[in-house]
Amino acid sequence: MGRIGTETAFEALARARALEKQGRRILHFEIGEPDFPTPPHIVEAAKKALDAGYTHYVPAAGIPEVREAVCEYINRTRGFRPTPDQVVIAPGAKPILFYTLLAACDKREQVIYQDPGFPIYESMIRYIGARPVPIKLKEKNEFRLDPEDIKKKIKPKTKLMIINSPHNPTGATLTEEEVKTISDLCHDHGIWLLSDEVYNEILYEGKHYSPSVYDKCLERTILLDGFSKTFAMTGWRLGYGVMPPELIKWETLLTINSVSCTSAFSQMAAKEALLGPHESVLAMVEEFRRRRDYMVEGLNQVKGWSCLKPGGAFYVFPNVKKLKVKSKDIENHLLNDLGIASLCGTAFGAAGEGYMRFSYASPMEKIKELIELLKKEYGTK
Ligand code: PLP
Repeated sequence: MGRIGTETAFEALARARALEKQGRRILHFEIGEPDFPTPPHIVEAAKKALDAGYTHYVPAAGIPEVREAVCEYINRTRGFRPTPDQVVIAPGAKPILFYTLLAACDKREQVIYQDPGFPIYESMIRYIGARPVPIKLKEKNEFRLDPEDIKKKIKPKTKLMIINSPHNPTGATLTEEEVKTISDLCHDHGIWLLSDEVYNEILYEGKHYSPSVYDKCLERTILLDGFSKTFAMTGWRLGYGVMPPELIKWETLLTINSVSCTSAFSQMAAKEALLGPHESVLAMVEEFRRRRDYMVEGLNQVKGWSCLKPGGAFYVFPNVKKLKVKSKDIENHLLNDLGIASLCGTAFGAAGEGYMRFSYASPMEKIKELIELLKKEYGTK
């Protein structure tokens, strides 16, 4: 247990809530969850499922028609159709990450991932006894993974690589060429490739590129996706992995050993999310785009702050190096003195020093307030 880490967003949220309990007003930009309700047609599907008796155990890897729905959705969004027996439904995207690490890696084998990156990667790599091999993302490369940097990190003990596009915390998106090069590298060196695509639909420019198209998740690619972000379903705990047969059997066993199966009526809501009307997702992304544009423009007017325009997800990752203050101290100052809950870049790895992360899954009027508060505190350019 000494090796396990955490997702500090949950701790930051708890600190902000504690201040609210004392009567302080807090603007929330720390946690990564859409501020939109789950679309009503999805909620309705869950209610119907409850009435229809989806209240018992179901097959460990998922209800067959829900696994079918995942295949249909992958065909629509990624352009190839996996078979249902390549799909494992799980209570969130996180369990698939955990299961994949457990199933694919032995102790002391190496796992490549991005720094800054979703903190659970490093935490889980360490926890299972594997070796974390971070690749630093550079602002001058718009925080995109540079395949040249990956080449330098691949060693005989490299077993798995995790990529994430659109990326948490920077919002960076990989190009088709980068994704292809990464997929080829994994192929040539016999490395599993876990592609975390939970933000694949929260995209503002261009197309989403998935390495899963190259081997159709039959050889080395594990496609990880979920419902938390795209369908505003964080509390439903729903996600899935599409993967090669060799891993399916182990991840199904891990499911049986840990949770037995994913909630049956939640799965029926998931089916509706995947196959039902998509307008609410598109409307949510449009609203995120409006907020992103406002946020980036506003942050770039604050003295000492500069911010790239992210291509996806709902985060900005402004550079605060000119302030010459540690990111963690800025996080504390913003929370304690200005009532702004945010996260320091180092919550996502050591390479996050000099950056802050704001989630703009927060209403526009709050974002306007944030920018005004920052301008008042730090001045304008
Ligand atoms: N992967 C990334 C990159 C995330 O940002 C998150 C949540 O913040 C997850 C996975 C976990 O999602 P879920 O709620 O489906 O477990």
